Amino acid sequence: MPELPELEALAERMTDVLQGCAVESADVLGFSALKTFEINPEELEGKIVAGVSRRGKYLDISLPPLRVLIHLSQGGRVDIEAPPKSTKPRGSVVRLRFDGAPSILIKEFGTERKAAWWVLREGEIGPLEGLGPEPFDDAFEELVMRGTDRRQLHTFLRHQRTVAGIGRGFADDILHAAKLSPYAKLSSLDEDPRRTLLNATRKVLTAATERERERTGGLPPKMGDRFTIHNHFGEPCPRCGTKLEHVSYESREVVYCPVCQTGGKVLADRRMSRLLK
Ligand SMILES: [Zn+2]
Repeated sequence: MPELPELEALAERMTDVLQGCAVESADVLGFSALKTFEINPEELEGKIVAGVSRRGKYLDISLPPLRVLIHLSQGGRVDIEAPPKSTKPRGSVVRLRFDGAPSILIKEFGTERKAAWWVLREGEIGPLEGLGPEPFDDAFEELVMRGTDRRQLHTFLRHQRTVAGIGRGFADDILHAAKLSPYAKLSSLDEDPRRTLLNATRKVLTAATERERERTGGLPPKMGDRFTIHNHFGEPCPRCGTKLEHVSYESREVVYCPVCQTGGKVLADRRMSRLLK
């Protein structure tokens, strides 16, 4: 699923093609994805795009006096259509048409957690309420350096109300870069590993955003291999050459290097351990 780097670079590309353009129409193609009822999407017509930005894993299209938020979740993707199309591909959610600019088609190929969008007034935050700080905010630094969070680091990093924008892919890569176990806890870390975690978080996300800036167009279903170790179970660790291990955790796969991250220990699969009890 797209995380901070993919969405940050996508927001930049959308700003490039849409800024200053007026909405021609918002063609609602899948009804359950629209999460707001107060404002009819027809009200978007004629509004001018001031810019597109990202907050957490949300795209934010500023259309004064309105705003559109888009959350792609697991399987949501974006086509930037130049020239605009009028097809309705399977899983289509909404097509935003603009005067003299490409159309934006939001579509969905997931079945589990679906793409969603909101039409709000400027200043209304809707689903952004309660999101944690961005990884580059001072508040995140404060949290990592002074926090007493007792959850496993992999959970801590992915929890959007703790820090916004990181999913399981970059959580794997960040912990590998920091040489920390996915099961370690912030509360038991000294100052040095905390600083390492903070720096690794920012470094991994910055490097990934730079790579994403090479992409053109929207976000395709297969976004390519963006990760250092995530999705690389069984392959050699790029740092030490040891075979990367994985563990099933909260129904997701966590990949790690037993030499770099867990002091040589192979972590028990918790589902498996429960079965064996
Ligand atoms: Zn390693």
